Amino acid sequence: MELLFATKNRNKIREIQAFAGNKIKISGLDSIGFDNDIIENRSTLEGNASAKSNYIFECTGMNCFADDTGLEIEALGGRPGVHSARYSGIEKNDKANIDKVLSELINEKNRKARFRTVISLIINGKEKLFEGNVCGKIIDKPRGCGGFGYDPIFIPNGYEKTFAEMELDEKNRISHRTAAVKKLIEYLLTGVIG
Ligand code: IMP
Repeated sequence: MELLFATKNRNKIREIQAFAGNKIKISGLDSIGFDNDIIENRSTLEGNASAKSNYIFECTGMNCFADDTGLEIEALGGRPGVHSARYSGIEKNDKANIDKVLSELINEKNRKARFRTVISLIINGKEKLFEGNVCGKIIDKPRGCGGFGYDPIFIPNGYEKTFAEMELDEKNRISHRTAAVKKLIEYLLTGVIG
């Protein structure tokens, strides 16, 4: 079975293909020359993931899925959440986003946070949502140089290293995205193909 992933990010495609095995072929938007802008302006991760997958389905008619991820900080009422990519301004800027989060958490004792990924799958014209989380805490100074986004300030529960101090393999074993992708693949292998 072929499944179109609403992304041009080759790392994301490769990562998911590794979980999917050889029964499911994951293709990205580049592979079909899809270049339309996909608007992400909903107020929830679910809304954005769903809007993206529905748009791709309307344009291509193909079985497809889309994801959206955010960092949800308890003391900030769930922010940056759906605004994670552009929290500090219109441009995507990881360092400025981290600085903004840290300044909002100065003197805050509750450092609880979680990364949350939502995947919207459209298969045979029907939509299904999958979610993956990793809970942890926000530290007060960035540490490590791996990863991206908020990785330098996030330590998952049960660890002492930030995501940015981990090898990619180690992060990927426990990450929010992996948890959501595993649910998606399990559903496809057992509920759709199997
Ligand atoms: P996206 O939905 O995967 O594009 O993620 C939206 C934003 O959330 C990114 O631009 C990052 O700021 C943040 N983000 C998503 N996943 C991660 C992660 O694994 N580590 C750190 N930040 C992330």
